[in-house]
Amino acid sequence: MSDLSGRCRCGGLTWRAEGPILWSAFCHCDDCRRAASSDYVSWLGVRRAGVIWTGDRRLFRSSPRVVRSFCAVCGAPASFETDVFPDETHLYAPSLDDRSLYRPSAHIFWSERLPWVSVGDDLPKHPKGLQDAAANGRSLLR
Ligand SMILES: [Zn+2]
Ligand SMILES: [Zn+2]
Repeated sequence: MSDLSGRCRCGGLTWRAEGPILWSAFCHCDDCRRAASSDYVSWLGVRRAGVIWTGDRRLFRSSPRVVRSFCAVCGAPASFETDVFPDETHLYAPSLDDRSLYRPSAHIFWSERLPWVSVGDDLPKHPKGLQDAAANGRSLLR
């Protein structure tokens, strides 16, 4: 159970989390894309109780059941938390200090991908989100 750590672009906001990584996936949903202004987002899920933040972290409710956060100084997106998965915090893989710890295992919301996105991997591509993937065997996401 290695510890995980990461930071925002400016380094003012840092996180530490207890391993293991619960799941990992690329999310192509419109909400994630717009929150990050990115073609898609590389997520990792960790146990929420094991996450420790330092720095000026701002929270905002991006939809009724979702709270996202970002660095107040540089604006980098930092986390996603939903009461659908109340025991988890979802963190941005590019914020990891040690990039070797991340191995994406699936694409989710593949049906919402941007028209110019093409990927060369052979990972599973779930049309909808984590719950859909879970119904089809969440182990695919580990
Ligand atoms: Zn920052
Ligand atoms: Zn998403």
